[in-house]
Amino acid sequence: KVRTRFAPSPTGYMHVGGLRTALYTYLIAKKMGGTFILRIEDTDDKRFVEGATEIIVRTLKSVGLDYDEGPDAGGPSGPYIQSERKPLYRPYAELLCETDAAYYCFCRHVEHDERDHEDLGLVAETEDPCRSLSYEEAKRRADAGEPHVIRMKTPREGTTSFHDEIFGDITVENKTLDDMVLLKSDNLPTYNFANVVDDHLMGITHVIRGSEYLSSAPKYNLLYEAFGWEIPVYITVSPIMRDAQHKLSKRHGDPSYEDLLKLGYVSDAVVNYVALLGWSPGGEREIFTLSELSEIFDVGGISKSPAIFDIDKLTYFNAEYIRAMAPDKFAALAAPYIRAAVKNPAIDIGAVAAILQPRCEKLTDIPEKIDFFDKLPAYETALYVHKKSKTDEAVSLKMLEIVRPVLEALAPWSLEAIHDALMGLAEKLELKNATLLWPLRIALAGKAVTPGGAVEICHILGREETLRRIDIGIG
Ligand code: GLU
Repeated sequence: KVRTRFAPSPTGYMHVGGLRTALYTYLIAKKMGGTFILRIEDTDDKRFVEGATEIIVRTLKSVGLDYDEGPDAGGPSGPYIQSERKPLYRPYAELLCETDAAYYCFCRHVEHDERDHEDLGLVAETEDPCRSLSYEEAKRRADAGEPHVIRMKTPREGTTSFHDEIFGDITVENKTLDDMVLLKSDNLPTYNFANVVDDHLMGITHVIRGSEYLSSAPKYNLLYEAFGWEIPVYITVSPIMRDAQHKLSKRHGDPSYEDLLKLGYVSDAVVNYVALLGWSPGGEREIFTLSELSEIFDVGGISKSPAIFDIDKLTYFNAEYIRAMAPDKFAALAAPYIRAAVKNPAIDIGAVAAILQPRCEKLTDIPEKIDFFDKLPAYETALYVHKKSKTDEAVSLKMLEIVRPVLEALAPWSLEAIHDALMGLAEKLELKNATLLWPLRIALAGKAVTPGGAVEICHILGREETLRRIDIGIG
């Protein structure tokens, strides 16, 4: 039975890369009828951010990546937060000491954090003296309370191989591998140790993760072998890049998932776009719902080469999603942006949303498109000149004078009635519709490009305001 896990560290936001890993992990489980698990990897307290677990949980739920087991969902392999599993790791580390696959290290210069340890270059240059202590002596000192860490006793000879579904077979010389720290002096496991122990205890069959862990995979295999545990299927995904040289990085100003929402992208579009960053469905089609992806996702379509994050492409997806959305869903998403520009309570938000929906790329574009509803901007009369509509300033003035009494007398003030009255008028006067509508649009909006046309704008503004703006146009 397939079991996959998304194992983020609580950093306070969701990277685009993290979202993609979560998505692929979810899709692989769904495709194979398996179980998708959320595990929070918070044993590195330096990276820990208050409230970060909630952000992860909230994000996964909001994009529809519902996990079957996890911190708030429960499940048979809990707890699902590593810090809550703390007591569980030491016995496993000690087991490895007992079988000579690991050793207690009392060196004071060995920092508790593996990263600091690697920074010291300890492994490359000098052999750790504790490596050759006898198990009995080391165990006695550890039991007596002497501060220590537990490190892997990596073989100095031979090679270790592993297989990755995307990157193929990789073999490394063991002498290039360090004696990674498994358990820190505070009894917390390092990431390297905890992920292996937890993946085993949680019955994880497929490990999907970023390529930054690829070089550590041989060390994980040494651990699995030392325990005699079954090695999971590794599916390593390539980085997402800003350009050919640079990885996407929140620290260097690239947007996180939350930032993208703030920039006016809708989550379904982001998820769809992210699915295609490094995976190809093998056809022309690009727009897929999450449940469609769950059916067609295939590990074979994952690419080894890095994917470039193209914000314009995402914008295209976003516009597609907005257009295809149910009108009331769009109205609800657009409402705060509409209200940001249109304070007049008489303006019907739903009607404004309806004219925006067909031409909205990002929600954040909304305010500047519709601010004329609140306040007619000062405009140049040159806008009345429009060749295609066969209008100039003089013609426009005439049109406004003709339209005014018709609209004034119109009852009721409905979209249909306004439409029929204006079209009827154009027909009666044997005019092009645009000759009548262009001047009206300019008079009502003070600009040439508006969402919706003159009819919709009249309707939304209401009779009184429409007539007032026509009067301004007439001058
Ligand atoms: N906690 C690791 C991270 O956030 C997860 C890596 C993995 O999936 O094994 O990068």
